[in-house]
Amino acid sequence: MHTSALVLFSGGQDSTTCLAHALSKYERVETIAFDYGQRHHVELQARLNVLAAIKAGFPAWAAQLGEDHLLDLAVLGELSETSLTRDMGFQMESSGLPNTFVPGRNLLFMTLAAALAYRRGLQVIVTGVCETDFSGYPDCRDDTMKALQLALSLGMDRRFLIETPLMWIDKAQTWELAHTLGAQSGVPGGGQAMVDLVVEHTHTCYQGDRTHRHAWGYGCGSCPACELRAKGYAGFTTKVNSAAT
Ligand code: ZN
Repeated sequence: MHTSALVLFSGGQDSTTCLAHALSKYERVETIAFDYGQRHHVELQARLNVLAAIKAGFPAWAAQLGEDHLLDLAVLGELSETSLTRDMGFQMESSGLPNTFVPGRNLLFMTLAAALAYRRGLQVIVTGVCETDFSGYPDCRDDTMKALQLALSLGMDRRFLIETPLMWIDKAQTWELAHTLGAQSGVPGGGQAMVDLVVEHTHTCYQGDRTHRHAWGYGCGSCPACELRAKGYAGFTTKVNSAAT
């Protein structure tokens, strides 16, 4: 029986939904993120805001929420600098990935998360990887996760479970999942409260834009992450509205 989990928590919509998932399931939940000198200090701030909002709005979850860990991974910034495109500045590739993307980055994240889970005695590692929207990330695929679960469990001689609640769902369903988990939390109006929390506090935009507020949250509105988030939100609200009539 699994009772404890470590959530890879970046402060984005996906990892916030994964955190809600873990809190709905496990007695003790800790969080981890990596600071690699990215332009996303906005993201690191978003994490703290999300954690504070969860503690304020969901008292039962607050009691289960344990330590938050932030590991320095400046070496990833060095790897980005070795790209052939380093003189071109930040831009999006046709793959939908920023040109600063580091191959295998998620392999490193998962390995470090497992090492931390080992030391903290946490059994399950929860991550928001998904094949549905970004099939371009080979280190986020289901097969990679299954292979990692085996490799990390063998390599550390500890049976880890890697849980990926978003693997086969799209962005509209991720909004829906946040609503469902919030509604099940025992907080009156918790479904809408969880959706509001995701809108207000999570950050997904690649450009780090927190100045433009849309129905689905803050962001530039035109980068691939914003487009995906907006499209998912539209799909979610359409479904909710048609169910209400
Ligand atoms: Zn954006």
